[in-house]
Amino acid sequence: MRGTTIIAGLAAAVALCGAARAADYSGPLFDGHLHYNEEAQSPHPLADVLARMQRNGVKAIAANSRPNDGTKALAASPQTKQAGVTVVPFVRLYRNRADYDNWFRDDTIYEMVQAELARGTDAGPFKGIGEFHLYDSANANGPVAKKLMALAEERGLVVLAHVDDVAIDLLMANTPSKGQRTRLVWAHTGIGGAPVTRVEQLLAKYPQLMGELSYRPGLTCDNGQLCPEWRALLLKYPGRFMIGSDTWVNQRWQYYDELMKGYRTWLGELPPDVARKIGWDNAASLYGVK
Ligand SMILES: [Zn+2]
Repeated sequence: MRGTTIIAGLAAAVALCGAARAADYSGPLFDGHLHYNEEAQSPHPLADVLARMQRNGVKAIAANSRPNDGTKALAASPQTKQAGVTVVPFVRLYRNRADYDNWFRDDTIYEMVQAELARGTDAGPFKGIGEFHLYDSANANGPVAKKLMALAEERGLVVLAHVDDVAIDLLMANTPSKGQRTRLVWAHTGIGGAPVTRVEQLLAKYPQLMGELSYRPGLTCDNGQLCPEWRALLLKYPGRFMIGSDTWVNQRWQYYDELMKGYRTWLGELPPDVARKIGWDNAASLYGVK
């Protein structure tokens, strides 16, 4: 009798666990890392990319493109407004592929950024600089990288940087506040897989540092759920992370639905207020989006 009760109890517990699997996050999403590059625009015209955002509940995006025309088109189009998508435009540092590994020492890039900032988009001013890459972290000390970090902080622009943890320290050191007031979004939060303890140390050191989570190694484990150490970090710093699509190649546009579904799955496992922060609030408050 006792044995049967235990078995019945276990069965009930298993059933409960199954039933307790959280529903996906269903609130608004802020895509904090989006590209609308030249080569995407013919297979994925504005109507197509906006439809993808709309059907995934993406209500705002931080957008940049190579060259900057794609961002300007997205920001200023009446279709974007109709789709209910708010665009936060960034100045990209790349006019072409050759700029990827030379921008940090090329003064014409600095001039281009200043001209773009002065001009803005038809829908308003640029709010940030990037995404930029530093394949060698030492290039954070390139003369143009230094000038751009200082310029960003002085003008209150957000920086979107695809760099390693060493470069985060170097970039921060090149700002007037030594990183205390620098609004830096760390693309992928370390695509090379900087240890969680190191990520945590950087978040503690730089109060405005935010982590964007696309491609982050070790973030999710079984069934697309958060790995335990990442879950713990997100719960410890719920105000410091955001999600992003990183549509750097057209394939990412093709899988936009799956990417957003993936985010909704693990966001759904977090307490609702934390999910809402990471899915929407953190980016929305960083960029002043209502
Ligand atoms: Zn990117």
